[in-house]
Amino acid sequence: MGDCLFCKISEGKISADKVFENDRIMAFRDINPQAPVHILIIPKIHISTLNDLENRHTELVGELIQVAKDLAKSEGIAEDGYRTGFNCNKAAGQTVFHIHLHLLGGRNFSWPPG
Ligand code: 5GP
Ligand code: ZN
Repeated sequence: MGDCLFCKISEGKISADKVFENDRIMAFRDINPQAPVHILIIPKIHISTLNDLENRHTELVGELIQVAKDLAKSEGIAEDGYRTGFNCNKAAGQTVFHIHLHLLGGRNFSWPPG
């Protein structure tokens, strides 16, 4: 996708503070962290929003969550707890239209979220 920021990051055309990568997935630190740990986990293929998920993406989305779990452990936030989430479209505040799983930790979070 020509002008997608996260496609450019996954292709290495824009730099990011990468914490994980395999053939299908990349994870990097959020440029504007909302918690001591704030990592974005993305598929390398372009999917704009959760609304665009297809059945063939099921395993990939499961792997995003597995990566979040592994990173929570390696970042030292697994036992205290952490928040994960996908924002979808305007009402949820999605600003980058390439799906990304937020992993936040290192502080307490309120519920419901704002
Ligand atoms: P959204 O609001 O779409 O769920 O989250 C997008 C996230 O991407 C935001 O938390 C924002 O700080 C982060 N972000 C935006 N541009 C960049 C960038 O160029 N590099 C990194 N590492 N994060 C970014
Ligand atoms: Zn993209």
